[in-house]
Amino acid sequence: MKPVLHFIDGRFVEGAAGRWFTTLNPATNEPLAQVAEGLAEDVDRAVRSARRAFEESWWRHKPAERAAALRRLAEALEAREEEFARLEVLDTGLPIRQARGQAARAAQNFRFFAEMATRMTGESYLVEGAFINYTVRKPVGVAGLITPWNTPLMLETWKLAPCLAAGNTCVLKPAEWSPLTAGLLAEAVAEAGVPPGVVNVVHGFGETAGAPLVAHPGVQLISFTGETTTGKEILRNGAATLKRFSMELGGKSPVLVFGDADLDRALDAAVFGVFSLNGERCTAGSRLFVEAPVYDEFIARLEERVRRIRVGDPLDERTEVGPLIHPDHWRRVHAYIELAREEGARVAVGGGRPAGLPRGNYLEPTLLTGVRNEMRVAQEEIFGPVLAVLRFEGEGEAVRLANDVKYGLAAYVWTRDVQRAHRVAQSLEAGMVWVNSQNVRDLRTPFGGAKESGIGREGGHYSFEFYTELSTIHVALGEHPIPRFGVE
Ligand code: NDP
Repeated sequence: MKPVLHFIDGRFVEGAAGRWFTTLNPATNEPLAQVAEGLAEDVDRAVRSARRAFEESWWRHKPAERAAALRRLAEALEAREEEFARLEVLDTGLPIRQARGQAARAAQNFRFFAEMATRMTGESYLVEGAFINYTVRKPVGVAGLITPWNTPLMLETWKLAPCLAAGNTCVLKPAEWSPLTAGLLAEAVAEAGVPPGVVNVVHGFGETAGAPLVAHPGVQLISFTGETTTGKEILRNGAATLKRFSMELGGKSPVLVFGDADLDRALDAAVFGVFSLNGERCTAGSRLFVEAPVYDEFIARLEERVRRIRVGDPLDERTEVGPLIHPDHWRRVHAYIELAREEGARVAVGGGRPAGLPRGNYLEPTLLTGVRNEMRVAQEEIFGPVLAVLRFEGEGEAVRLANDVKYGLAAYVWTRDVQRAHRVAQSLEAGMVWVNSQNVRDLRTPFGGAKESGIGREGGHYSFEFYTELSTIHVALGEHPIPRFGVE
């Protein structure tokens, strides 16, 4: 595979220090690609290029031209959808069918925000016939976009599209474990005729490439997706230069299944919700609460389904769960399964390496029963194919247990009682709640978490709250009184 380079000022370049790092194929742990390692000097070049592009290019003044460029980017992604999907599989271990879905969504992100670019609105206030006050939204400047490894292409485009639609320029720092599709994305950016410097990509490590981006005085915005602990560190590091932050952080999302629910559909959604994307999914329903009267029946069916999930080569069309991203992550997830045993939970299904897959970061889909809410496996984000199951009695206990966690990203409610559905949905401390639904999200709706799952919302016009500067213009319509100082 060809080496992966930085993309700075419209050109593919090596790092200034000439350093490289190697990525691994999660299915084999064999080396996959050599990637240029960016350091502070490369970040600085990229930020300067983004700043120049912001100040000099036509880009920030013409929403229709930006929209056209975003549409060309969508087309470039669509034309190479299979290439993007296969590269993502090699880099992350996501099963190919799910990676195709992610690639399609990535193109959709550009199409959607191309539309939004021309629809930015302001407000106006008529003040007793004497004034008109109105607001305009302007691009802010240079954005640092820092992304995790779980669905890299989708998340990179989720940030890039609104950032560019609003007229900002940017420096993207992809995760070190999954840099490949960002390289291809940079090629698409060049093909789509986006002016040099508008999009820059610097590869590298969090501490040596991400941190200088956060600290750089030439960067005004940081949009970060990743772990809560990293998010807190980034907030501290960006304080000195008073950055504006958007934080999409971790989750430990509850799924509540009431006794009166459509149990067949709830079962399908519960299984898909935590085991899709190899369980490496921020909105994964990783804590399943089942109401006592249906608990035994539901869990028996769940065990059967989890046992039958097809784990294997992520390039195989039939694979449902592929290998985890990296051996370090495999060990981390596996340690949580060991911890579950120590804490007194039961590993009802899975828990180890699947038979017949001696290489790569494969882990059996795992079901933990007998979990109590205070256990660490019920409180901490595992970010792998592990589902913790708990029992509840009645609505009050369901809500109390669901909310008794530091995270608040997503929640899922299954019941046929329409009043309860709304009552519970509104009582849950989560940025997003799905009722009788799996995680299907319209791009117009706000995405983001409550509590330690994040700060701010992105999606639809909410993205512009972050990616634009709001300016209020006060205009006098006549001769209003002006206090006269210094005339007597
Ligand atoms: P990390 O927080 O480890 O890393 C995310 C990104 O931040 C990476 O690019 C990383 O670089 C970089 N980084 C690390 N340290 C710093 C630093 N000090 N300064 C600047 N950048 C830094 O997250 P993971 O990659 O492990 O991703 C998994 C996490 O992402 C989970 O917690 C998951 O819930 C969350 N997530 C949240 C989503 C949401 O929308 N709420 C969506 C998807 C995932 P490097 O790769 O070198 O470490």
